[in-house]
Amino acid sequence: MTKARRVLVIGAGLSGLASAARLLDLAPHTHVEVWESSERAGGWIATERVPTTALGLSHDPAAELVVDLGPESILRDKPAAWALVQRLGLEDRVVRTRSDRHGAYVVSRGALARIPDGFSLIGPGDLMGFARSDVISLEGKARAAIEMGMAARSRARDEDESLASFVRRRFGWEVLERLAQPLASGIYGADPEVLGMLATVPRFLEMEAAHGSVTRALVAAARKKKDEEGSGARYGLFFSFDGGMQVLTDALAARVASSLRFGRTAGALRRAEHGGFEVTDGEGSSEHFDAVVIALAAHRVGRLIAELDPHARHALEEIPHGSAATITFAWRRGDVPHALDAYGFVVPHVERRRILASTWSSEKWPGRAPLDLALIRVFAGGEDACARRDDALLAIEARRELADLMGITAPPLLQKVMRYARAMPIQGPDHLARRDAIAQRLESIPDLAVAGNSLFGVGIPDSIASGERAAERVSAG
Ligand SMILES: Cc1cc2nc3c(=O)[nH]c(=O)nc-3n(C[C@H](O)[C@H](O)[C@H](O)COP(=O)(O)OP(=O)(O)OC[C@H]3O[C@@H](n4cnc5c(N)ncnc54)[C@H](O)[C@@H]3O)c2cc1C
Repeated sequence: MTKARRVLVIGAGLSGLASAARLLDLAPHTHVEVWESSERAGGWIATERVPTTALGLSHDPAAELVVDLGPESILRDKPAAWALVQRLGLEDRVVRTRSDRHGAYVVSRGALARIPDGFSLIGPGDLMGFARSDVISLEGKARAAIEMGMAARSRARDEDESLASFVRRRFGWEVLERLAQPLASGIYGADPEVLGMLATVPRFLEMEAAHGSVTRALVAAARKKKDEEGSGARYGLFFSFDGGMQVLTDALAARVASSLRFGRTAGALRRAEHGGFEVTDGEGSSEHFDAVVIALAAHRVGRLIAELDPHARHALEEIPHGSAATITFAWRRGDVPHALDAYGFVVPHVERRRILASTWSSEKWPGRAPLDLALIRVFAGGEDACARRDDALLAIEARRELADLMGITAPPLLQKVMRYARAMPIQGPDHLARRDAIAQRLESIPDLAVAGNSLFGVGIPDSIASGERAAERVSAG
């Protein structure tokens, strides 16, 4: 009898779990192990469910807050996440953003102002909505209007530019500074000056090439969406789950439960004499596997493969990563003077505040808090937020900003600080070229595959897709 092939997945975050599940689907007789250095599966994805009785409130004992500490929404347009939801049978746990709230605010000259209706990350998709907004001055609007008559800039196929340069060139500095910068930074965790168009929002380059004007393309897309919604095809841009994001990773972890090995940290990979790899763990012992999927951030992958390919190690460690912190609060709704009639707000750098954004979780998703409580989450970013300021100071600063912007002065019922050190890859204009060079080197190592959000896209759908692709690669070997 031939021995079952032994495959190791390193990391039980979303991409490692997705990889292990796919491996077991593709080759059920494979011996799959997932080494996870911590004592839980899910990685950055973590939901805490806090009974309101634990806050000293006399609610019904089943009432709870559903607190997503890290990621909180999934983009519906990218197919990998939705396909996984269907395979896991989680469709009836999916929730959409609340339809009785809409849009978001931006801090504008010291106060919260509505983001113009139909504004789509870098440009207007609703001309009236943009014209009515006070966020951009008359001069700024006049400059943005020129975009509709501008020709496309000719560029070579792989020629990139920074997101900031694109927005400045097409819409002017004010749209960049007041809207595009805070919105893009909220998604990509970095300043648009260092983000590359090709790696982050290539669709706007395609719009420029196809329509000349990005505004005209956005307006046409908004009209098409409205028509589709009119014909009943509405599904919303983002989704989550009734019990928070961890519903997804819990379901995946249950699917691969017998493969999970908690408290096991992979140290280094060495080629084994007769094929496969010797993998050392944190205790210094080593085990043989026929194939390995590494589902970690690039800098961690670099350390693990140092002996296999020192050049790839160097390139992986050079990918810059940004850090972030989330600070979540709960208040009695009566202690929040703001109408909470949106999903939250973003903060432009020019406003010089200590926070980057805030999500009003109880307003964005159904069932996150009992009706008389408000669950509000604040993002702070950069090395400074993660490394130099302690939890108490981060919370004090966040509360100070919320007091100033939303008038909330009461002490919170709940306060939770989480840090995400070197968590988000910064995809600069050189990211794709660097990624392709790294991928080529790694592909030349047989029986090894790399997944995770550093190389193949920052969000949840891309992480899932990268894990599944890695599984297909090693199971084919
Ligand atoms: C604050 C924040 C908010 C975000 N919000 C969103 C959002 O709303 N929507 C969205 O689409 N994306 C969001 N993202 C991105 C998303 O979280 C990631 O793309 C995704 O979770 C990455 O998963 P992963 O498995 O690749 O990595 P990780 O989640 O980092 O998992 C890696 C795992 O490996 C373990 N590990 C590390 N080293 C070793 C080792 N040597 N041996 C064994 N195990 C090891 C770690 O403990 C961890 O469990 C957000 C990210 C952050 C940081």
